[in-house]
Amino acid sequence: MRDFLAELGIEEKNFGASTGDFFATEGEWLDVFSPIDGELIAKVKQAGPADYERVMSKGIEVFARWRMTPAPRRGEIVRQMAMALREKKTALAKLVTLEMGKILPEGEGEVQEMIDMADLAVGMSRQLCGQVFQSERPKHRMVEVWHPLGMVGIISAFNFPVAVWAWNAFVAAVCGDVMIWKPSSQTPLTALAVTRIMNGILAKHGFAGVMGLVVGPGRAIGERLLNDRRIPLISATGSNTMGERVAVAAAKRYGNTILELGGNNALVVMEDADLDMALRAVLFGAVGTAGQRCTSTRRLLLHKDIAQGFLGRLVKAYGQVRIGDPLDTNTVMGPLVNTSAVNDMMNAIDTIKKQGGEIIYGGAKLNRAGGCYVEPCIVKAKRDMPIVQDETFAPILYAIEIDNIDDAIAVQNGVPQGLSSSIFTRSFKYAEQFTSHMGSDCGIANVNVGTSGAEIGGAFGGEKDTGGGREAGSDSWKAYMRRQTQTINWSDEMPLAQGISFG
Ligand code: NAD
Repeated sequence: MRDFLAELGIEEKNFGASTGDFFATEGEWLDVFSPIDGELIAKVKQAGPADYERVMSKGIEVFARWRMTPAPRRGEIVRQMAMALREKKTALAKLVTLEMGKILPEGEGEVQEMIDMADLAVGMSRQLCGQVFQSERPKHRMVEVWHPLGMVGIISAFNFPVAVWAWNAFVAAVCGDVMIWKPSSQTPLTALAVTRIMNGILAKHGFAGVMGLVVGPGRAIGERLLNDRRIPLISATGSNTMGERVAVAAAKRYGNTILELGGNNALVVMEDADLDMALRAVLFGAVGTAGQRCTSTRRLLLHKDIAQGFLGRLVKAYGQVRIGDPLDTNTVMGPLVNTSAVNDMMNAIDTIKKQGGEIIYGGAKLNRAGGCYVEPCIVKAKRDMPIVQDETFAPILYAIEIDNIDDAIAVQNGVPQGLSSSIFTRSFKYAEQFTSHMGSDCGIANVNVGTSGAEIGGAFGGEKDTGGGREAGSDSWKAYMRRQTQTINWSDEMPLAQGISFG
């Protein structure tokens, strides 16, 4: 039944460091359990300091050749990676689901996102262009040129075990960088499988080691990346606690960071909205991935005129959500990632009650194998409840009444995080205000589109405590390159800028 594990080269015992070949000699064995039934899937030998050094020195060695390879040629190699991913899409999607618990269509969507990202990066490889400026001096040319950065550290979260890596890795690769990936310890097998496919292609072209991997705990292997001066850029996706640690450690050594941290995303439904559309968007946003997306809808801001009726319909829709095995095609919501996530959710429910929130649907732990299944929860919340300010990584939705568009925007913006936001309305004025500089303060602001499920063409990321990083499309590639301003004098004179006369 689990042929896909063999297809992806996953064995009972695996080795969690790679430069094309798989090894790890020093770390402890990590047991990888499935949230579906709590069963052991496989073991991974984690990387220790010497394993890390092997991956790093191989990366540095291959960088010297990789950066000399023309960008469109690097793009061609990424194109072949996209083709290889297409071949393994079904197997990889099943592994994502088995290891992390999201339903299979979402697992497939995640692998598709990797493929899309690779395709996008292929195009980018011919467009990594700088600007030409007008020089104030005669016979001078001033240009901006983008060079590869070197080694990029990629730290990823459990909830998008491969897509987030792809946002970084394919762009970094066409930019001429090499990388070390430290995946979440919840999802090392998916990382192993992807690294194997990528290195199959890289090795054919003599570039094994461009995409290195180290599996290990954040506090040991992760910290090693943060403090390593050979890594000019760390791209880190995860919780705010982790992000703060990354920001401080990298800043201490003047390293650059791309931080993709927690969200607390609001969806506003105005009195004139298409309520059927809004209902579907809320359901996918709040219940999809069992509320474990950084862009999950956590706050539902309902105009007072439609609030009661809309909540009634939402409660009915929640009642139809089929919870169960995420590999079963009838399931809409799978388990949480582990029992500790379930405990966090149960603690949050206790706090909600203490702070005066009214649970109007769900919120219970379900007694099923593995212990990771919960009911999604809707809370009638007061806007000043302190817990509403926090991201609880679980399917808890706070419904809050708002009076008008100004009130909606103030409540939407009144949290520390700034990732995704959305408004449902037919009013041109409401939509424009929400997306204007006076509107949402988030990195993502949608109209009649939910908070979750971004396309890769645009830049993805958020403001405030979400960290300010941008990944995927638009000009996000610039973060993976080193900008150089060049002034070239082809005259016989040596004029100084600002007309300075010296000596
Ligand atoms: P987490 O912070 O527990 O772990 C994320 C990664 O950081 C893991 O690989 C972990 O091992 C590593 N890590 C932890 N401590 C570290 C340290 N001291 N040094 C280096 N690495 C360290 O997060 P999680 O539970 O895996 O993921 C959920 C969180 O991720 C949520 O807050 C979610 O919003 C956020 N997230 C954000 C985005 C985004 O794009 N903004 C996308 C996905 C997830």
